[in-house]
Amino acid sequence: MTDQALAEDDEDKQSNHASMFAPLALTHVLPFLPLAQNGVDYQVDRRDDPELIARLLGDDSTRVMLVRSGKVAIPKGQGKLVDYDVAKIRLTMLAGSYVRDLIPHAQSGMRTDTQAEAVRNAVQDSQCIPIFLGTRADHAYIALDISQSVIAAEVPNPRNVSADNAFVADESSLAASSARPSILELAQSRCDWVGLREFAPHASTVEASLATTAATLSMWHRAQHYCPYCGTATISVYSGWAQRCQNAADDNRIIFPRIEPAVITAIVDAQDRLLLQHNSAWNPGFYSVTAGFVEAGENLEHAARREAREETGIAISDLIYTGSQPWPFPSSLMMSFKGYARDTAIHVDGVETQSARWVSRDEFIRALTTGEMQAPGKATIARYMIEEWYGAEF
Ligand SMILES: [Zn+2]
Repeated sequence: MTDQALAEDDEDKQSNHASMFAPLALTHVLPFLPLAQNGVDYQVDRRDDPELIARLLGDDSTRVMLVRSGKVAIPKGQGKLVDYDVAKIRLTMLAGSYVRDLIPHAQSGMRTDTQAEAVRNAVQDSQCIPIFLGTRADHAYIALDISQSVIAAEVPNPRNVSADNAFVADESSLAASSARPSILELAQSRCDWVGLREFAPHASTVEASLATTAATLSMWHRAQHYCPYCGTATISVYSGWAQRCQNAADDNRIIFPRIEPAVITAIVDAQDRLLLQHNSAWNPGFYSVTAGFVEAGENLEHAARREAREETGIAISDLIYTGSQPWPFPSSLMMSFKGYARDTAIHVDGVETQSARWVSRDEFIRALTTGEMQAPGKATIARYMIEEWYGAEF
């Protein structure tokens, strides 16, 4: 893609570890969680404008990222960088009008009174779902979810076979609108695709937030196509943030993504040792803190105490909220607590939880060094909870 096509990006001026607290953090205990929303103005009141997406796709200052079944597009070749701790990775960001011109037929109505309608219909025909992510520093951000296009492309479809969609190999010809690749071709030939767990530890806080929102909504649209009340097909509305049931008899009900709350608790004893556990479903040697979903009719505190008791046999006295971050695999919200144990006698069920143990800081770092223990990955809230207890990154 050309230099013009790649929107300029000023987010690298902002480091992952800014010197001030994240403005939206509710606590100062875990203020820099990698997937937590940070610095993007959602502008919720603009979402129900049916022409918003078309208008933004006509604007060169709009930046468009690509998302597919929860994975985000990064420039080709950068995918291998996820294995290097210090590497910085950026999203593939395209100018709004460049993306508009990649959508077949979107240009046909551009000079008429029905310009917005033409773009809207073209986007719908392409089976892409555009998502308005919000604004930051005079740029509007859109995620183009191409998951459905990929599925459609696997089935022979005359609409996808035309000269306009011909594969274009060399960079210079990409600049000529008559020979531009389709979105799918660009996505396949010019991008690597990475999951949030791999992307977030290498990304700026803003791009990690954009990617988290886009991946969450992408996975929701991928999984839900029908109204859960009447079974009629739905369409994306509110600029990608909701779906509308197509059944008038069901009042064209609006359906929002469901978020599943989960609690995660770092439990310490009177000697400030940390309780770590190994679950049967995890890789050998992998240890983390206690976690589980909030049950129906339960508050967060009850869930944290119940999970601790079920998984480790430990009763918690005081419980302090320390932070939260979305965990969209596919739709959780992790809420973290620090819990103080009443006693230290561990009982595991041996089924879900295989083992649990108290570790001092010295024992913990020794176990990591020898390979006896592996810690949670750098995108997880568990990692930050354990680092907070340990007092440093490890
Ligand atoms: Zn319905």
